Amino acid sequence: MPDCIFCKIAGREINAKFVYETDELAAFQDLNPQAPTHILIITKKHITRLSDCSQEDAPLLGKIQYAAKEIADKAGIAEGFRLVTNNGRKAGQSVDHLHYHLLGGRKMNWPPG
Ligand code: AMP
Repeated sequence: MPDCIFCKIAGREINAKFVYETDELAAFQDLNPQAPTHILIITKKHITRLSDCSQEDAPLLGKIQYAAKEIADKAGIAEGFRLVTNNGRKAGQSVDHLHYHLLGGRKMNWPPG
């Protein structure tokens, strides 16, 4: 998607601090961290939000979960982290490209608000 900031990050047109990359996924540090560790995991394929994925995307979604585990291990937050996607404006989504926030390094409260 030409005007998508996360597509541009995945395509290395915009700089980001990458922590993980595969053919299908990329992960980089959030510009405005909400926790000591705050990493965004994105699909390289442009999917606007989780609601817009199709059944054929299911294996890719599974890979995000495993990537989160690997990144959390490497970041030293395996004992306590949160993996969350904001789906739609009402849920706080501000960038229209599927991404998961991996947060850790502090106590996470519930409910999240
Ligand atoms: P959301 O509000 O769930 O759509 O999350 C979007 C996230 O993207 C926010 O946490 C922003 O801080 C982050 N963000 C926006 N632009 C960039 C960027 N260029 N590099 C890294 N993170 C970004």
